[in-house]
Amino acid sequence: METKRYVFMFEEGSAKQKEMLGGKGANLAEMTRIGLPVPHGFTISTEACRRYIESGNQLFPGLMEQVWEALTRLEEKAGKRLGLREQPLLVSVRSGAVFSMPGMMDTILNLGLNDETVEGLAAATGDRRFAYDCYRRFIQMFGNVVMKMQHGAFERILERHKDAAGVEFDHLLDADQLVAIIANYKEHIRRATGQPFPLDPRQQLTMAIEAVFSSWNNPRAKVYRQTNGIPEHLGTAVNVQMMIFGNMGETSGTGVVFTRDPSTGHPGLYGEFLTNAQGEDVVAGIRTPKPIAEMSRDLPEAYRQLVDTCQLLEKHYGDMQDIEFTVEKGILFLLQTRTGKRTAAAAVRIAHDLVEEGKIDRAEAVRRIEPTQMTKILHRGIDPDAKLEAVARGLPASPGAATGQVVFDPDLAEKLGKEGQKVILVRPETTPDDIHGIIPAQGILTSRGGMTCHAAIVARGMGKPCVCGCEALRIDMDNETVAVAGRTIKAGDVVSIDGATGAVYIGEVPMVDPTLGEEFGAILRWADDLRHLGVRANADTPEDARKAREFGAEGIGLCRTEHMFMAQDRLPIVQEMILAETLDERQAALDKLLPIQQGDFEEILEAMEGLPTTIRLLDPPLHEFLPKVDELLAEIALLRGQGDYHAAAQREQVLRRARALEEANPMLGFRGCRLGIVYPEIYAMQARAIFQATVNLLRRGFRPQPEVMIPLVGHPNELLALRQLVEEVKAEVVRASGIEFNCPIGTMIEVPRAALVADQIAGTAEFFSFGTNDLTQTTFGFSRDDAEGKFLHQYLHRKVLEHNPFEVLDEEGVGQLIRLAVDGGRRTVPGLKVGICGEHGGEPRSIDFCHRAGLNYVSCSPYRVPVARLAAAQAALRNS
Ligand code: PEP
Ligand code: MG
Repeated sequence: METKRYVFMFEEGSAKQKEMLGGKGANLAEMTRIGLPVPHGFTISTEACRRYIESGNQLFPGLMEQVWEALTRLEEKAGKRLGLREQPLLVSVRSGAVFSMPGMMDTILNLGLNDETVEGLAAATGDRRFAYDCYRRFIQMFGNVVMKMQHGAFERILERHKDAAGVEFDHLLDADQLVAIIANYKEHIRRATGQPFPLDPRQQLTMAIEAVFSSWNNPRAKVYRQTNGIPEHLGTAVNVQMMIFGNMGETSGTGVVFTRDPSTGHPGLYGEFLTNAQGEDVVAGIRTPKPIAEMSRDLPEAYRQLVDTCQLLEKHYGDMQDIEFTVEKGILFLLQTRTGKRTAAAAVRIAHDLVEEGKIDRAEAVRRIEPTQMTKILHRGIDPDAKLEAVARGLPASPGAATGQVVFDPDLAEKLGKEGQKVILVRPETTPDDIHGIIPAQGILTSRGGMTCHAAIVARGMGKPCVCGCEALRIDMDNETVAVAGRTIKAGDVVSIDGATGAVYIGEVPMVDPTLGEEFGAILRWADDLRHLGVRANADTPEDARKAREFGAEGIGLCRTEHMFMAQDRLPIVQEMILAETLDERQAALDKLLPIQQGDFEEILEAMEGLPTTIRLLDPPLHEFLPKVDELLAEIALLRGQGDYHAAAQREQVLRRARALEEANPMLGFRGCRLGIVYPEIYAMQARAIFQATVNLLRRGFRPQPEVMIPLVGHPNELLALRQLVEEVKAEVVRASGIEFNCPIGTMIEVPRAALVADQIAGTAEFFSFGTNDLTQTTFGFSRDDAEGKFLHQYLHRKVLEHNPFEVLDEEGVGQLIRLAVDGGRRTVPGLKVGICGEHGGEPRSIDFCHRAGLNYVSCSPYRVPVARLAAAQAALRNS
């Protein structure tokens, strides 16, 4: 004997039972519970659907008995009976999953009609045409959804009859014409399926329930679940509800209303309605719905009720609602309420306003906002209403949208940029050499590289749109063309990219401006009151530093000094330094760099006045500053061919050095503190530049707070040697200037050994900062430049890994090292200051981990600072 219950009357449930009743069912139950006018009905649970699917798409014993019992109760409430000619009950059968999947699964309306009941409906409504129109729609919907027949065949029959009757619109067909259409529909069903259209309403209901269960696994629902991360096993509930008719004349109608504007968040009802119509008419687009405000004139009493109900529902749920309603002969009925989907801008405005109106508290407002969505409102975006087709999709590497002419050559990008033209720099990948072309570009598009490739990091840092790893692009650099989707894009053609979605479009697209308003600022300040983690920015230039401050950064957690070496006016000097054969020659080059670096630091420290600024000494391998060996070979051959042997000989010297610096595994090679140990004069120059800049600012009345950070330390001795070096330089600057100042010297923890011996390293370090980009690559043994382009997408596709560990911090592996290092460090130095400056510092799930691991701050690119402020507050709320 089956005792488990699978079927629940609306009055038995509540909003808390979403898992069992689905979102729609739970909300219908809730509205019934609080006394709102909801047509009677019942819900078949999601569990029933799961059992149905597990049983090989078969109804299991006991289920339909429960359905018939519920039906009897529904009939009693409605005062109507399914299949009875007098006062026939008609029902809708709708899917309703736990997570809303709009339009993905099936719906059947007007169920219960047959050759008998249609006459009863005609008699009850006094409208024969109306009754037969419902019947026709029902057969068509049932044939299509339940009996899996093509929609088009029904449409063709309908068209034929309209032509014969000489009418343009469905509603101009009279009852007899509809009767003839119905006969043709039934005949068509019998011929096409070998089965008659079922006239028994109980058989109709059984078949409809099975169809809704099965629609959980239709292809569009599967795709929707995949793209929205909805688990496959949940199943859908089925709601069986008494039909209400919005098409019973001019005092009836139907519509959809949001309690606030879903695109801007403005208060006030937003939506549309149609008089004398059923739900399908609104979506079918045959008649244009009217703005909801006009309902106050057409259906005044129902409108007043609707306004009150909207307020009540919003207050009850504490959030903006998306409501479906129908008015039958002047009486309002609610068919659905759910939390309304909204744009990022509207989400902010609504959360803010609900607090002001006393409907939710500040913490709830902060909780409501999806941090990553916020990057969307800080950039220009593509108009969400535009109907556009992407020619290709790459990785959404840096949000924001951009349009411009395609340029392959960074020099040309620079030139056109100076002329004020808009360009999109298109390259297979970018390198530090391309920076001068990246700066003036509106956006960057590459065919290779992952979310942390050079282009992606640089673009995010600049808040510049970037799509990378767009493998569908066949970029031919020699001919300056891109082949994609059977088309060829040439230099100078206009393209658009959307760095928030990875989409690439040909031509211009309509854009919308970012709307960063007062409300956003207010919510971020509420977040600041809630969070424990500090938020700093990764910024390498004074502009970045200013931007970061504007977005609320409380300091710089990582200033990468190599980007300063890449600028056009410095690179030749840096190359001179690298090519130097003797210490004197190298020192001469460094002497030229010193004032330039000092100027950089002075500007950045000034921009960060009063806030800590962590400056990292040189990190990348030196060959990154030299041209590539291949390019040099080609250049030398060309110079020789032109007879310019002198220039060729000069380039050969560069070639020799480039070859000498070549490494099998550059990421594990001669970089980071290893450079500082072998060429102490480089680090000494940088330290001097930092300290002299500090002294200058102090003289000018500022309060600079520099912090020096040594990269890639794995052994305490590395840090010890370099710390001594930096301290000696500091002592010299203090002695020469007569000005004392404080400057903590700390280290990055970015190789596993450093994490393992963190207790020893802490004796020498005044702070730790986790470089989780390198720590991820060295912990996994993945080269980050290669992994993302080569195998990582396969790993993700095949679910070997759930997330890209360069995006979302790998808590089990890398996270364990971080915890170990925090513990070790604080065992030696209680209260040791610890932060993170890898890309994960701006990623909400990783920020949650940083909170739990007891870090003091996270540091991320300026445009992700607001994201981090919110995510840090949410982490505090979640883990409190
Ligand atoms: C890191 O490794 O996480 C880091 C911040 O340094 P970079 O990305 O410059 O190697
Ligand atoms: Mg690093």
